[in-house]
Amino acid sequence: MTSSANNSTELNTTTFQDVTCAGCACLCDDLKVTVTDNRVVQIEPACELAKIHFNCDHHFETSCLINGHHATVEEGIAHAAKLIEQSNALLMCGLGETTTETQRAIADLADVAGAYLDGTNPAFADPTGVVSQTTGYITASLGEIRHRADAILFWGTDPAITHPRHFERYSIDAPGKFLDPSKPRTVLAIDSETTATSKRAQQFVKLSPENNLIVLQTLLALARDNKIDAAAVESQTGVSLETIQSIHTQMSQANYAAFIIGKRFTGNANGQACFELLADYVRELNRTNRAIISLNRAGPNWVGAANVIAWRTGYPRGVNLAAGYPQYDPENNTTAALLQQKRVDAALYFTGDWTHGLCTAAREHLHTVPQIVLSNHQTKTVPKNGVLFQVARPGVETTGTMYRMDEVSLPLKQVRTTELPDAGAIIQALYKLAKDTN
Ligand code: SF4
Repeated sequence: MTSSANNSTELNTTTFQDVTCAGCACLCDDLKVTVTDNRVVQIEPACELAKIHFNCDHHFETSCLINGHHATVEEGIAHAAKLIEQSNALLMCGLGETTTETQRAIADLADVAGAYLDGTNPAFADPTGVVSQTTGYITASLGEIRHRADAILFWGTDPAITHPRHFERYSIDAPGKFLDPSKPRTVLAIDSETTATSKRAQQFVKLSPENNLIVLQTLLALARDNKIDAAAVESQTGVSLETIQSIHTQMSQANYAAFIIGKRFTGNANGQACFELLADYVRELNRTNRAIISLNRAGPNWVGAANVIAWRTGYPRGVNLAAGYPQYDPENNTTAALLQQKRVDAALYFTGDWTHGLCTAAREHLHTVPQIVLSNHQTKTVPKNGVLFQVARPGVETTGTMYRMDEVSLPLKQVRTTELPDAGAIIQALYKLAKDTN
């Protein structure tokens, strides 16, 4: 078992310090994990999502199934290689569930196999890649928010549930090095429903997500001193101009204003337009003080998936490598669109919550085509036509790196051993076979 220099070992118990948790996109890197007889027996702090992440009390009968039948990993690799060779339109997706190293190996495989390569998460709209290339936006690390933000607006996000240690590490409850401890942070929330996060806010505005656009236009108009029709704003949004003015006043008078947005902000039909408007508004605020946008992304490593595709192809998401060079189509080469439009004849993917974001037609098509499935959690996805590899879980059973949701790359530790194969080794073996047949 690998152990770091400051770990204390007693009999068959090892305590690992400063462990990075990949239970959500916060990637907290301060955990203490105790392992006895190769079982994780204690996690401090005992965050609920971390407990799920480090729970490896699974008893897989096999690490590989071909068409639902037990097989060796070597047989699985040989079968998967054949499926790749026979495919004319292979999709590689679900990449946010693995390490950056494995994502790079998948990009190599996609290149040699001439596949579609996509890093989007169908369950979480993230327009940042596209907006970075259009209008741009001002952002910051979570550490900067912790130490400097004296006003925080949570919009369409409930980190109390989705990122359980966000408050203690990065926002409401975190002590800020450059903040006056006698002055509590201003905390505001806008959301379509009352949440655990909105209950912590000094001001909460209930707003239907389809009206985000109008409220953002109003904020921008206030920042630019434009004339506003108060009656029209209220009748369209159900929110008074005084309320929006109050949000604007508090955020514009802060020294450092942080807009923390989430799924109910970006996940609507007009999510990208909302993000661009917020980016405009934040630029206006930066004329007199500091303001930033932080996206509370889904975890664990969708940022890594987007980054790897951008490094390797120059494009922020869905590319087709069939022509021998990357062909970019931001709307139609995404996992959701390719499956819904039935444009792929095979798929290689990591299991995860991302499949919940697929429409019925897309999900049905995914289960119609031959599949090469890699899973680092116990899964019910056993392809009738294809291969399932049960693989080691990153950050528990194998090392690697992942990107935190603010684009900071962090190393993962291995805290227990496993018989399960490493996903990266499987992908590298497939790459070798695909290269040999080309
Ligand atoms: S907040 Fe997320 S990353 Fe941090 S300990 Fe909990 S599950 Fe792990």
